[in-house]
Amino acid sequence: MKKEEIKPLLKLQEIDDEIERMNRRIRRIEEEIGEFEKELRTTRSELENMLRREEELTRLIKETKERIEQEEEMLRRTEEKMNFVRKDVEYKSLLREKSKHEDNILKLSYELDELEEKLMDLRKRLEERRPVIERRINEIEEEISDLYEEKKLAESKIKDLKLRRKTEVESIDKELLSFYEEAKARFGSKIVVQIEEGICPGCGMKVPDVLFSKMIKENSIERCPNCGRYIYYRL
Ligand SMILES: [Zn+2]
Repeated sequence: MKKEEIKPLLKLQEIDDEIERMNRRIRRIEEEIGEFEKELRTTRSELENMLRREEELTRLIKETKERIEQEEEMLRRTEEKMNFVRKDVEYKSLLREKSKHEDNILKLSYELDELEEKLMDLRKRLEERRPVIERRINEIEEEISDLYEEKKLAESKIKDLKLRRKTEVESIDKELLSFYEEAKARFGSKIVVQIEEGICPGCGMKVPDVLFSKMIKENSIERCPNCGRYIYYRL
């Protein structure tokens, strides 16, 4: 075969290689987007969790304060009643009641202190972390938007390449084209290859010396005796 005949096939191969490169690029972009989205979810949930905890602590503090107020009110009433009892046994029972309310108030006050301390710590942490988290969220969102832009470009490049391929295919001999398509399905790429130091780069086998000499002398296009790929010395 003459080199002029193989040139359109070589061009087709270049287009296909470029399409494959673009497809690989798109897959890599999609992976990167996936990783950034995962990070975005974790980063957002860190902030959301802190805010939810802040809300919860605020609610618990409010409830505890209300319970203390109730206990204090009950204590006040018990003390009032104690002023009016006559019987010793009633007085004792009120005394027990009073001491129960006092205990509850004490217990609730401890709880309140603890809750307020927790809320203070959380707000301090929130103050430190919030700007860092919000900055990172912005960064990630920008990265993701850039990647989508890049993906869009790669997709439009593939569209152009496919159009060019369509035109290119028309100038190729039908039999040669079907060989190429079959070989491509089997090997993936490198269907038409330049021989390197007497070795077919497609399958890695050394071609017979006689064939290699002929290729150099006649500058012909041959088939690798091992894998069947088209091999050339120089175009
Ligand atoms: Zn080969």
